[in-house]
Amino acid sequence: MIRMISTMRRSRGTGLLAAALTLASLAGPTTAARAAAQGAAHAACRNGFVGLTYDDGPTAATTQSLLSALRAAHARATFFDLAANARQTPELVLAQQRAGMWIGNHTYSHPHLTQIGEPAAFQEIASTQEVLRLITGRPPVLFREPYGETDDQVRADIASLRLLEVLWTVDSRDWAGATTAEIVAAADTLQPGGIILMHDWAQASIDAVPQIVAHLSSRGLCPGRIVFTPSDVSGAGQIFHAVAVAP
Ligand SMILES: [Zn+2]
Repeated sequence: MIRMISTMRRSRGTGLLAAALTLASLAGPTTAARAAAQGAAHAACRNGFVGLTYDDGPTAATTQSLLSALRAAHARATFFDLAANARQTPELVLAQQRAGMWIGNHTYSHPHLTQIGEPAAFQEIASTQEVLRLITGRPPVLFREPYGETDDQVRADIASLRLLEVLWTVDSRDWAGATTAEIVAAADTLQPGGIILMHDWAQASIDAVPQIVAHLSSRGLCPGRIVFTPSDVSGAGQIFHAVAVAP
């Protein structure tokens, strides 16, 4: 590739055209089509990525319709599942996985981790790793505390299990009864790399999916996956180190 480009740079006039044609024919139609599609994707996501997150699932009544809404919008999201729910409906965890969603740990039974003491807090997190690993074949790498409640002990537990703490930069307030319009408006405030808190059981958040994704698209933003960043991120009254990047 480097040799071809240097050849093109040395060429002039028809020589340059010939080199370009050679390059195009070498690339072939499949590669060219893929490059065009990637170019379109890059343009659509020119301003970066955001993390759509859904907590407290899987939920028998709503997970499937949420997955359908996300799939229809060509969006991937992160689900912070509860092990207690996952054990009752493992097929819904598998449905999340098959739909291309990322699955994180949200504890076994949604306790106030900073109040239950040790070893209970550690066991809530560690047992959920095992439950989700048995269902999906891999242990989660992302973790979100119930209520966003964390402290040094919880963070030590998370670190010992090699989990990344993922809080949020935008709260949809779907848990407080926010309407679909209010949830869409909250998502409109997401900045590149930001993460929005929503819930797997909230019908208003499911109804908001098409508008959230369309508005993001109009702002050059795409739903992405969540990874570690060394930068300090402020949100949920804490500093954390998670950011959304290309899937
Ligand atoms: Zn929760």
